[in-house]
Amino acid sequence: MAAAVALTRQGVPVSVFEAGRQPGGRARTVQLNDLNLDNGQHILIGAYRHTLELIDFLHPAVPPPYQRLPLTLEVPDRFRLQAARLPAPWHLLAAILRAEGITWKDRLALTRFLSRLKKQRFKLPHDEPLLGFLQRHRQSRFLLQWLWEPLCLAALNTPPGIASAQLFINVLRDSLMGAAGDSDMVLPARPLGELLPEAAGNWIRQHGGAVHTSCRVSRIAQEIDGFTIHSPLGNQSFSHVICATAPQHSSALLPASPLLADIRAKLQRFDYQPIYTVYLQYQPGTRLRTPMCALPPGRMVQWLFDRGQLTGEAGLLAAVISAHGPHVELGHNDIASLVDEEIRATLLPALPPPLWHQVIAEKRATFAAVPHLERPAQRTPLPHFYLAGDYTAGDYPATLEGAVRSGLQCADLVMQ
Ligand SMILES: Cc1cc2nc3c(=O)[nH]c(=O)nc-3n(C[C@H](O)[C@H](O)[C@H](O)COP(=O)(O)OP(=O)(O)OC[C@H]3O[C@@H](n4cnc5c(N)ncnc54)[C@H](O)[C@@H]3O)c2cc1C
Repeated sequence: MAAAVALTRQGVPVSVFEAGRQPGGRARTVQLNDLNLDNGQHILIGAYRHTLELIDFLHPAVPPPYQRLPLTLEVPDRFRLQAARLPAPWHLLAAILRAEGITWKDRLALTRFLSRLKKQRFKLPHDEPLLGFLQRHRQSRFLLQWLWEPLCLAALNTPPGIASAQLFINVLRDSLMGAAGDSDMVLPARPLGELLPEAAGNWIRQHGGAVHTSCRVSRIAQEIDGFTIHSPLGNQSFSHVICATAPQHSSALLPASPLLADIRAKLQRFDYQPIYTVYLQYQPGTRLRTPMCALPPGRMVQWLFDRGQLTGEAGLLAAVISAHGPHVELGHNDIASLVDEEIRATLLPALPPPLWHQVIAEKRATFAAVPHLERPAQRTPLPHFYLAGDYTAGDYPATLEGAVRSGLQCADLVMQ
């Protein structure tokens, strides 16, 4: 959608083929019990500049369809680290100084670690798993469990034991160590579809482009002067193609050409991590102290969101379970009961049972962000055939920003 909007803005006629009933893919709106919910609870950060610019472009009226809050990592009554509203780097230093539930030794270790990263310009001599890297940099067990692991799971959806230290540090570089607003947490105040993909689709249609939903492409064939797209609409010819599917779907769509063998091989080496989003509807008066908080380490859930405070769905909580874990062997009802128990045990002991629950399990939510993963470039060896998506080459893990950036790069390549 980012590529299609960018090209439309430059006067290039585009056609978007989307297999789903609505655009948005992994960041789409889903309908549940008459509510427009998200396929997964998403959070952006202030450093996701390209995504925020696109959202702002699609929603010129103020206020923007998201809330901007200072970065806050909070496990209620146990641990709290909140960025101060000060210019960088004071916002972060003040956060470390004022953090609650953390020893002075850990504050020092944290400050030293961040300044060492800054000194080496956030570039590691060689990539390695994040956990070992943090241990070598004297990050205590407490910091690993209460700070780095939840942050790593939120940013990379990959456990620190196997996650790429370099990709994680790239996110730290752009969020924590950039300008003060870059570390902000940006929380959608409307369903994701309205925020970006459906808004983009409407804008493209209004400006002369086509967005075909429920229109799965079955084949992309290379011709002498372009490509033929095979879809339920028949066979249509195009001069350029941007293939913007998730990595597990891209292989099957690549035109049959030996030039693309290397990309096929790279795609085969991708591994994936799940994300489970558990929606629990409680009585409308149910409220967390903050729109978002973390659960203590060792729980199944890492993050809990109060949709009442975010999107106005009073009493609806969204719990996020990132990456692989024993929960993937459980049924959805069991997962929902465990999440309800965890909320009761850690935050709201007197909570009445939920009125309903819904578990959305995305088994291949993101690629596993491991060291040395070779990601295909947006420009392929096949002239005028490009790849967009969060998995393509870039220095971000699987995120909205990674996907948007790759789309914009493809649009630039088409213009060239
Ligand atoms: C549960 C969950 C939570 C997440 N949380 C966050 C978060 O908090 N912050 C963040 O930044 N990122 C988050 N992500 C990641 C983010 O959603 C993705 O990085 C981003 O949506 C990827 O976009 P994409 O365009 O690369 O791929 P996709 O969203 O997968 O889009 C690919 C599209 O291709 C379509 N398609 C596939 N095959 C065909 C075909 N043959 N013909 C036509 N269309 C086809 C699909 O229907 C889909 O719409 C989360 C992801 C999940 C699943």
